[in-house]
Amino acid sequence: MAEVTLEELVKEFDDVVAVDGVSLDIPDESFTVLVGPSGCGKTTTLRLVAGLERATDGIVSIGGEVVNDKRAYERDIAMVFQNYALYPHKTVEENMRFGLEQQGTDDDVIEERVADAAQLLQIEELLDRRPSELSGGQQQRVALGRAIVRDPDVFLMDEPLSNLDAKLRVQMRAELNKLHDELDTTTVYVTHDQIEAMTLADQIAVMDAGKIQQVGEPTFVYANPRNMFVADFLGSPSMNFLEGDLRRSDSGLVVDLGGLEHEIPETHRSKVEHRVGESLALGIRPENISVAQRGYPASVEVVEPQGEKTVLELTVGDDRSLNASVEPDVDVSVGEEIRVEFDRSKLHYFDPATGESLT
Ligand code: ATP
Repeated sequence: MAEVTLEELVKEFDDVVAVDGVSLDIPDESFTVLVGPSGCGKTTTLRLVAGLERATDGIVSIGGEVVNDKRAYERDIAMVFQNYALYPHKTVEENMRFGLEQQGTDDDVIEERVADAAQLLQIEELLDRRPSELSGGQQQRVALGRAIVRDPDVFLMDEPLSNLDAKLRVQMRAELNKLHDELDTTTVYVTHDQIEAMTLADQIAVMDAGKIQQVGEPTFVYANPRNMFVADFLGSPSMNFLEGDLRRSDSGLVVDLGGLEHEIPETHRSKVEHRVGESLALGIRPENISVAQRGYPASVEVVEPQGEKTVLELTVGDDRSLNASVEPDVDVSVGEEIRVEFDRSKLHYFDPATGESLT
């Protein structure tokens, strides 16, 4: 078993609290992604698991054992970094062998593991080359190979794909998925890229300001963000927020969006009713807005074809902007007055003061 458990983990650097009470269960064999904006504490959390930083407070356990006092090399982990960190003067094979040699592993075991990993990563024909003779993608494979041969309890990966170009990144993402399916090694992966997080993770932990904002299965977190930070961070273009006062009307409850009244669907009324007279933020994702015959009047400000979809920048009500992600062949042009409908089953409501979800 190699589950990783973080309990109330804190890391302070002088007056910076990089990790601020992080508790997280990383199940055995899971692919857990820590995702969040730059500086939110992802890398520091990973380095605490690796043993490259000492916790100011809290507990790190690997496989049920508290490892706070264990050095990095005493923990059964292998790290893959963004910059690959290959030895430039060693060949690919020597790079892959090195860690095992340091551990005093038998030569025939080393041979077998290097051969297996090279086959798995399809780098067999590169074994005699030096890193300078490899492309970025090939170097990244070697870095993965070096981690795989260690056969660790846990892989720790810090933005391993961020130095690759967009196309290669997508390809390597698929390969990492396949690799995880084959090896089943518990993996903790850090990225600021929400798409990478969504596609790789079976568990996603969204971080902000040293704290975990939400943990869960990626599609669940996407559909049920706990607060406005998570709602905004996941998704591109991000969720629209429209803020207005909640009041009673003949038909039930409405949010006054300035020249535009949004009626709260009956299914949500009981959850927001206590806020009548106060302000409310309506959240709607761009893909849940469609151009329709009926619905809210909107002016088209920008039309941005993106290939598989077209993003419309609209204004509604008293000049509030709204992004809609629609079919690529939509027939609208800049300056046109159109109508848009919101998918009523995909509405979110938040307390704009705290950012917390009310739904
Ligand atoms: P990025 O995506 O930019 O790498 P991150 O989410 O990984 O960001 P961390 O690198 O963990 O964030 O940094 C969290 C905070 O801790 C930042 O404010 C950073 O400046 C600070 N920090 C990190 N390492 C140190 C250090 N060795 N000394 C002082 N402050 C540090």
